[in-house]
Amino acid sequence: MWKNKNIYFFKPMEPVFDSNTIIIDDDRLVLVDPGTESIDYFKNILETTGNSVEDVDLVFYTHGHYDHFEGTKFFPNADKIAFSPDSKVIENKTGFKLNSIEEETILNTGKNVFEVIHTPGHSKGSCCLYLPGELVICGDLVFANGSFGRTDLEGGAMEELKNSLNKLSNLDFENILPGHRDIGTKKSVFSAIENLKNFY
Ligand SMILES: [Zn+2]
Repeated sequence: MWKNKNIYFFKPMEPVFDSNTIIIDDDRLVLVDPGTESIDYFKNILETTGNSVEDVDLVFYTHGHYDHFEGTKFFPNADKIAFSPDSKVIENKTGFKLNSIEEETILNTGKNVFEVIHTPGHSKGSCCLYLPGELVICGDLVFANGSFGRTDLEGGAMEELKNSLNKLSNLDFENILPGHRDIGTKKSVFSAIENLKNFY
């Protein structure tokens, strides 16, 4: 578990096939990307932050892939929010109603004010949560080792991924908190931009 103030980063048992989960323990308790783990897993990580499963106010999704939303069923009463059109995908697959983000906006959790940055490429509605000067919760856009999200799934597009990486490289932050494996830095973004050039 990694922690920066009231932001907690948890890696799953199986880091390749399940996503990391991030908990923002603020005035609103926000859980980012409930993956394929069991209810006990979510109970455990929430306990680490001094909370319970019922306390989660908001579930935020970086994008609409199974390994990032399968655990939605454990949070029936929390608000749920994702960028369009991935919000529709999650609605259809989980049966829960989501609030759809249509354009870049602010997510104010209390003490933290995140910017929601639209970063398509891995999927149409992929987005990042950006905390200026600190970190970016980047889903599957880019990983610590400079690799990047696959673009061969539905809604994926290499050109869009490239633009999204460039967009990220212009922001001011120290760490990336990706959807899989380890935490990275801004260097990871520049490496990914270099690595992407080999695909052209
Ligand atoms: Zn994905």
